[in-house]
Amino acid sequence: MNNTDTRLDVIRGSAEPKKHNARTIAALTSNPGCARRSILDAASIDKQALAEHIGHPAAFGLSSFAIARGNAFETYVKANGCAELLRLLREHLALPLPEVSYDDLNSVAGHETLEARYRRSRQLLAHAARSDQDAGTLFDHPLLRMTIGGRDVYLEPDLVAFRLRDRFHVVEIKSFPVIDGRADSSKVASAAIQSAVYVLALRQLMEQLGFDSAVVSHEVFLVCPEDFSNRPTAALVDVRKQLTVVRRQLARLTDVGAIASTLPPGLTLDLRRDEAGVATRPVDELCEALGQIEARYAPECLATCEMASFCRTGARGHTAALGRSVQEDLGGIDTIAAALGLATGALDPGEHAHEAAQVLQMAERLRRECLGGAA
Ligand code: SF4
Repeated sequence: MNNTDTRLDVIRGSAEPKKHNARTIAALTSNPGCARRSILDAASIDKQALAEHIGHPAAFGLSSFAIARGNAFETYVKANGCAELLRLLREHLALPLPEVSYDDLNSVAGHETLEARYRRSRQLLAHAARSDQDAGTLFDHPLLRMTIGGRDVYLEPDLVAFRLRDRFHVVEIKSFPVIDGRADSSKVASAAIQSAVYVLALRQLMEQLGFDSAVVSHEVFLVCPEDFSNRPTAALVDVRKQLTVVRRQLARLTDVGAIASTLPPGLTLDLRRDEAGVATRPVDELCEALGQIEARYAPECLATCEMASFCRTGARGHTAALGRSVQEDLGGIDTIAAALGLATGALDPGEHAHEAAQVLQMAERLRRECLGGAA
């Protein structure tokens, strides 16, 4: 364990590390410059629980009904050694699959530690990559590892990796419906970016094992319920574009070790749960600790990060809270009060804000004219 790992463990405190999945990694790429999010995710902190305890519960996420429906559909597709999935691969995608083997990697001989599952997944995937067998192999829940912000994190995937001949394919099972051959485009886009995270993680693993990353296909199988039934249907989705986005965003993530080294020693976000599991940490103390980790709030956070309500409160009065385009237009003016002061002439712009002040004053004149006309 290195110094950064030790710091991050202290920051997480006594709680169990929260596992990553493709959704959390994909969301992570939506605000790569935020140090607070980088630290919370690298320390595997349960952001949902943290936000709830400080009185800012996350206003997004799947309902318990949607989660139950998703789990039931996944169980159905994977029942009997993925029999339904194999039917789909044969029927819809015309794959010649005379015989397919199936490996369940949810646990290893009853051991469910991440390291044990990762080692077993790695071993079986390496064996499959070396094998020249023509038959297919399904790997259910292989555990993958990715380097995020300079730190290794385990990916807890809900996927099946499918190898046929010399290529691996990711199979993504989602519970949103395909109705009359069409699915909600935003849900397909989100599934595609999550699948791209898996493709990338599998490719990284193959490269570590000495194989060409191209052994993992950029085409993924998306499996969804058809119409209003539980019957699955499948389609091939090309995720090359999403791979480029995820790679670029992950490369932009700030080095977590560098951020951690700037934080006060001993800083912790431990909820200090008692024996009954109730968080006992004073909220003020926790908010103060969170405030020591710099955030970069943007309205997009509302759809992607559990801490959004808390961070939005902290960003109140700052131009960042109005969105990136407004912030860029106001280049260098950090607060709304300063922008209003420049617009009305109440604030001396000095040399550095002279140009911005002229634009703001013109906008203010136009606004007055419009309001005057309306009156
Ligand atoms: S909500 Fe807060 S912690 Fe999450 S990405 Fe936005 S600024 Fe960062």
